Amino acid sequence: MSNKVTTRFAPSPTGFMHIGNLRTALYSYLLAKSQGGNFILRIEDTDQERLVEGAVDVILDTLKATGISYDEGPLVGGEHGPYIQSERLPIYREYAEKLIDGGHAYYCFCSKERLDSLKDENGIGGYDGHCREMNYTSEDAARHKAEGGHVVIRQKMPEEGKTSYVDMVYGEVEIDHSELRDQVLIKDDGYPTYNFCHIIDDYLMGVTHVVRGNEYLTSTPKYCLLYDAFNWERPTYVHLPLLMGKDEEGKVSKLSKRHGAVSFQDLVNDGFLPEAIVNYIALLGWCPKDTNQEFFTMDELKENFSIDGLSKSPAVFDYEKLKWFNSEYIKKLPDDIYEAKALPILDEICEAHINTKKLAALLHTRISYFNEIREMSAFVTSRLPMSLELYTNKKNKTNPENCKEVLEDCLPLLEAVDEWDNDTLFAVLKDYAASKEKKAGAVMWAVRIAVGRQSVTPGGATELMEVFGKNESIERIKLAIQELS
Ligand code: GLU
Repeated sequence: MSNKVTTRFAPSPTGFMHIGNLRTALYSYLLAKSQGGNFILRIEDTDQERLVEGAVDVILDTLKATGISYDEGPLVGGEHGPYIQSERLPIYREYAEKLIDGGHAYYCFCSKERLDSLKDENGIGGYDGHCREMNYTSEDAARHKAEGGHVVIRQKMPEEGKTSYVDMVYGEVEIDHSELRDQVLIKDDGYPTYNFCHIIDDYLMGVTHVVRGNEYLTSTPKYCLLYDAFNWERPTYVHLPLLMGKDEEGKVSKLSKRHGAVSFQDLVNDGFLPEAIVNYIALLGWCPKDTNQEFFTMDELKENFSIDGLSKSPAVFDYEKLKWFNSEYIKKLPDDIYEAKALPILDEICEAHINTKKLAALLHTRISYFNEIREMSAFVTSRLPMSLELYTNKKNKTNPENCKEVLEDCLPLLEAVDEWDNDTLFAVLKDYAASKEKKAGAVMWAVRIAVGRQSVTPGGATELMEVFGKNESIERIKLAIQELS
C-alpha cells in the first residue's frame, strides 16, 4: 500500500449534517490536503433500522456546497470501492471468518432471551462468553440459522493485559482487557457492526489517519485489537473534542437544537453562506500557527492546517461570532450575487410600491444573515407604532415641536417633486433648510423619523423616501404631522 496520507469522512446517513460532523469532515479533508494526500468519502449505512431516505443526498450536497471534495467515494468511484458499506457485506463476512480461523472471533448462538437475561434492570450488561469455547463452524452456523436460530460473530477479547494507543490530540489512551466484553462483529441480520466494518474499510481503503469525534476515543483500543489480530499496521488516530453550545443562562453542553440551528442546512436556510460557515468552524478547535489571520479561503486552510494546531478543550459554538463572520462575507459579495439572494426575500415581504432594489442596497452592509432582512424590513412592511420622543435629538437640536413645523413646510415641497429619487429629494430638503437657515441635519432628522418610524434606520431620510416611493412617503409624513398635532 502507498504511504500517501489518506483520510476519510465516514458519516452515517441520518438525514441532516450536524455542524460537528461537518467540522470532522473539514478537518479530515484538510489533514489530507495539507499533506498532498487522498480524501475518501464512505457512507456508513449498516444500521438498517436507522436509515433515512434522501440522507445520502444531504451528505453529498453539503460536501459540494462547502467545497470539501473527495477523491474517492460514491458517484466519483475509485480503486477501493464500493464506498457504501451496505454494498460491501461479503467483504466483512470474509474478514470475520478470517478472524474466526485465527482464533480471534467465534460464532455465538445465544438466543435473544438468553442475552436479555444477562442485562440488569437498566438494560445494561455485557456478554458472558458462553459460546467462546464452543468452536462452532460455519456449517454449524448455517444449520443453526436455517433452524431459525440466532447467529452472531463475536470478537474474542484477550482476558489479561492492556492495550493502549497514542491519540494525536488526547495523548495515550489505555484500557485494561478485563473491562472488555466480546463485542458483536457480524449481527444476526448479516450486517456488520460499526465496530467491525469501519476497521476493515479503513484498512482496505488505505486510511492512514482516522479523524473523528471523541466519542470513539475510549473504544479505539478495541479497534486496535482488531488491527493487531489481523497483523495490520494501526492508523494514526486524531479524535476531536466535542462541539458545545451555550444556553441563555450561560450553561455549556453538547451543541444541540436548543442552542439554535445545528445543521448545515438550517444555517444555509437562515441565510448563512457556506464559505463563512466553513471559515468559522475551521477555527472551532483548530488554531493556525504563526498567524492571527481570521479569514481563510479553503486553499488557505489547506496550506495552513496541521494536527498540532488542534486543541483538546471543547470548542463552544458562538452564534454571534458566526454572524460576524457571515456579515463580513456578505459585505464582500458582488452586487449581483447579493441581490440574487436578497431580492427574493424582499419581493416576498414588500408591497409592490417599495423599491426593493434600493432597499436591498441599503441592507447590504447591515445584515449578518439573509433572513435578518425580514426583521430589518419590519419598518418598511408596516407602519410601526412609535413614540414622539424619537423626534428629539440633541445634536441636531430637534424636538417634536420644531419637527412638526419642518414636516408641515416640507410636505407641499415634496408633493411637488416629480423625479422621486435620492438626489432630487436631497436637493429639495437641503434648499429648504438653507432658505429657512436651518441645519440640514435637523430637517433630515425630522423627515427620517417621520418616514422610518424608528430611531435607527438603514439609510437617511431621502434614501428611505426613495425606498418607499412617493405615495407612501407622503402618507407617512401626513400621518406624522397628525400624530404631532
Ligand atoms: N459513522 C460514524 C459516525 O458517523 C463514523 C465514525 C468514524 O469516523 O469512524 O459517527
